[in-house]
Amino acid sequence: MGERTPAKKPKATKSVKSESRLALVRRARRINRELAELYPYAHPELDFENPFQLLVATVLSAQTTDLRVNQTTPDLFAVYPTPEDMAAADPEGLEQIIRPTGFFRAKARSLIGLSAALRDRHGGEVPGRLEDLVKLPGVGRKTAHVVLGNAFGVPGITVDTHFGRLVRRWRWTDQEDPEKVEAEISALFPKSEWTMLSHRVIFHGRRICHARKPACGACPIAPLCPAYGEGETDPDKARKLLKYEMGGAPGQRLKPPPDYPGEPAPPLGAA
Ligand code: SF4
Repeated sequence: MGERTPAKKPKATKSVKSESRLALVRRARRINRELAELYPYAHPELDFENPFQLLVATVLSAQTTDLRVNQTTPDLFAVYPTPEDMAAADPEGLEQIIRPTGFFRAKARSLIGLSAALRDRHGGEVPGRLEDLVKLPGVGRKTAHVVLGNAFGVPGITVDTHFGRLVRRWRWTDQEDPEKVEAEISALFPKSEWTMLSHRVIFHGRRICHARKPACGACPIAPLCPAYGEGETDPDKARKLLKYEMGGAPGQRLKPPPDYPGEPAPPLGAA
């Protein structure tokens, strides 16, 4: 992977400020189509086998990488496979297992609290409604959308740091507040696209359009991007900035979906 370069030399998209609503919608949807071609295998980058595992993994992913969470959860779910088991956990034992994900005391409190709430209020099942999910301890809108979109098939836009940065670079919105970003971006796309759009944008942010040094010279979105030139434009230098499967390296999941073209991530301690 990683050999795709911009189809044509990008012209700066200068006229974005005066872009009509219709032109914005068309440009946004074109970028989404390009991303779909670039990442036909886009997926959530947390390993999970059921809604409870996804909920727990998403809570653990705050302030750390999905890779680190994926390296931690196999041991965690071996010891505490159900909400009932996790609700009854000895906090210190749980803390030790999740320690590699950082902020482990607060995260252990959240996991025990949310597991007790699942046991007591929802019969040990993860609820499939936003209003119920956001009432669980440690669960915000972003976590709720990840769970709804990927474990329940309910369309949702996930505004994480990558998503917010990229949609502002593309001038799809100038909002900073994640809820306002979510509202503005969801108005540009049909509902059926929301979940996959989120995965594709986050994939692009992790692989090519990085926070500090976007690899503009190796970016297929460049002809459509008003921020082209914010990063490295030399194609050879830009290619060296590509990450994960785009840069020939392992991905973040220890158990990626079968269509993932890269290598699985190594277990904890192996790298
Ligand atoms: S890498 Fe550069 S050209 Fe590509 S989307 Fe990001 S800012 Fe735009």
